[in-house]
Amino acid sequence: MRRTQLFTKTLKDAPADEVAKNAQLLIRAGFVYKVMAGVYAYTPLGIRVVEKIKQVVREEMNAINSGELIMTALQRPDTWQETGRWDDEAVDVWFKTELKDGSPLGLAWSHEEAIIEMLKQHVHSYKDLPQSVYQFQTKFRNELRSKSGIMRGREFVMKDMYSVHATEEDCDQYYEKAIEAYNKIFQRLGIGDKTFVTFASGGAFTKFSHEFQTICEAGEDTLYVNEDQTVAVNEEVLDEAAKELGIDKSELTPTVSAEVGNIFKFGTEKSEKMDFTYTDKDGKNKPLYLASYGVGVTRVMGVIAEMMSDEHGLVWPANIAPYHVYLVGIGDAGNEKAEELYSELRDSGIEVLFDDRDERPGSKFADAELMGIPYRVVVSDKTLADDSVELTSRENGENEMIALKELCKNLQQKIQA
Ligand code: ATP
Ligand code: MG
Repeated sequence: MRRTQLFTKTLKDAPADEVAKNAQLLIRAGFVYKVMAGVYAYTPLGIRVVEKIKQVVREEMNAINSGELIMTALQRPDTWQETGRWDDEAVDVWFKTELKDGSPLGLAWSHEEAIIEMLKQHVHSYKDLPQSVYQFQTKFRNELRSKSGIMRGREFVMKDMYSVHATEEDCDQYYEKAIEAYNKIFQRLGIGDKTFVTFASGGAFTKFSHEFQTICEAGEDTLYVNEDQTVAVNEEVLDEAAKELGIDKSELTPTVSAEVGNIFKFGTEKSEKMDFTYTDKDGKNKPLYLASYGVGVTRVMGVIAEMMSDEHGLVWPANIAPYHVYLVGIGDAGNEKAEELYSELRDSGIEVLFDDRDERPGSKFADAELMGIPYRVVVSDKTLADDSVELTSRENGENEMIALKELCKNLQQKIQA
């Protein structure tokens, strides 16, 4: 991509009403556009990061045999009336609207009931089981407060997966696989070491659910972790979980954290309410065991922006950065060579943002840093005198001269590392 084709400009200041660091940086660097509190649009730069995060999640969901689908944002009330959640005051985040004829509709804040209703039309027999499906979908939630930037949106992207099983045992096994898949996801996204599987409040069926909490100053939750970091408990269930685990509360240290994922088992509670049954080998009708698994895709992006940034801007890990390389030419010869490198690098699979604007090198460098592009490549008379370019790492600021003919290979190795 050429900078001249990118309509976004970097900004010196974020909007005055934006208090969250993640949104301040993402707005200034041109990744998101703030429409109103809790409502953000994703620009060409921002959407590339969202898509890369989604791809990591997608690969791990596919690896546990889940099938991708997409539900709708508009939902029928009767879908939610079956479980009593359309009129449930505990669900205080609904955005509701109506059709021209006055009949009510809901904007999806969750897809639990909606997915189950769809699965119900197809899954009837033990032969159809188990099943697992997932989607990336926009959720709409009328959150009371939205001061955490993209970490708490009123419109945000969630990955939600649902699994359906004949037996509790099968459900439990899949649930454990999902925990492993989630651990892989957060590891691959570079926040694995700070992310903990956490005991959280359960539903009617199980005592606990599990949250994935990432230690992050900008989070809204409090996580209690023991010294060797093998036990993590959410504040809501602190007393109960400590008792259950036989540990003293005082051994757990409170830390500020952000909930990046939440998984829970419904048991047969929801299938019973929604009359979702299957016919077993013995010809008997039995209720299904269900579980659901969420990841806050855009919240994760916000958490990464918070954690991987410095006074100059964002610092994306190479696998989710919008581009691998920020390319700058200085002087006539440098610019001419930069044009050549732009095609060469792209031909070898490297994603390049080429700053072809008529701007001072200093302001181009500042943009490269603000945007958090992992590698900056500068080509000028000086570097060309040595048949080389200057390569700078965003993460540690280290500079090196790389021979022109080595550049593609060198970058490929760095990006894969
Ligand atoms: P929270 O307690 O933070 O309000 P939740 O428990 O209501 O979240 P879930 O319904 O479990 O959230 O949704 C699954 C995941 O979606 C959460 O773990 C979180 O990462 C993400 N998420 C929830 N609400 C938001 C939001 N308003 N903006 C962005 N991501 C969100
Ligand atoms: Mg939750």
